[in-house]
Amino acid sequence: MQSKIHVYTSGEPMLKVNAFIIETAKELVIVDTTLTSSDSKALKQQADSLDKPIAGIILTHGHPDHVAGTYNLAPKGDIPIFALSSVKKLMEETEEAKHKQWAAVFGSEWIPKWVYPNQLVKDGDTVKIAGLNFNVQDIGSGGDCDANSLWLLEDDNKAAFIGDFIYSKNHTYMNDGSILRWIANLEKYAPVLKDFKTYYVGHGASCDFASISKQKQYFLNYCNNVLKATDGTGIFNEESRKTFEQTMLTIYPDYGCQFMVALSADAVGKELMSHSH
Ligand SMILES: [Zn+2]
Repeated sequence: MQSKIHVYTSGEPMLKVNAFIIETAKELVIVDTTLTSSDSKALKQQADSLDKPIAGIILTHGHPDHVAGTYNLAPKGDIPIFALSSVKKLMEETEEAKHKQWAAVFGSEWIPKWVYPNQLVKDGDTVKIAGLNFNVQDIGSGGDCDANSLWLLEDDNKAAFIGDFIYSKNHTYMNDGSILRWIANLEKYAPVLKDFKTYYVGHGASCDFASISKQKQYFLNYCNNVLKATDGTGIFNEESRKTFEQTMLTIYPDYGCQFMVALSADAVGKELMSHSH
């Protein structure tokens, strides 16, 4: 049979992060594992309902909303967990800080211990999981965190699992910087992604090639309006931040993750000014 792709969208209302279950005739592959305790347990339940073993877990990038839930799928790390070494390193470097930042906010929904990748992959690798071939692209820091990858499934689905490389109809998390690299990566990987029909993304509905130029335009609008609102300084005060936020919400009235707009403003302002003299 052709592999079947199931989308799990989190019940958690802020991020509504996606995870995916790829079902083959005999086995399952999980792509990303959600943030909260409830969501990762529900993801596990959906996988269990298919009554096939999990052959492997893929982690696209190192943010908590994509890796934390691994704990409820493979608490002892006894399933192959695939990721770039840079993703593993980022998890190691940020786990403690993320716990400190978010544990109190999420309470019992916060997963207190991360399970780490145990199968490290690198750029250009073809990784076989459950009989499926995935081509791995290491896109470096040019995405929504400092370590990001694309997983291109080489079967008739023509499916690309791209993590948070594109935010489909959602405001983008840009707080970790590297916007210029991100824009460059959209340009660089467009010819690669052109061959794939469906992009399975971390937030929002699955999308296609047209979403690449939309994402680029989003960045240009964002940067342009950061400079406009701050009179070219990149430094916000309370009022200019509100003006900026309102402008972005007006340009994209139907986009989710609205809190991302103000969240990323300072970081983008800073990055823009680091390029000036
Ligand atoms: Zn995410």
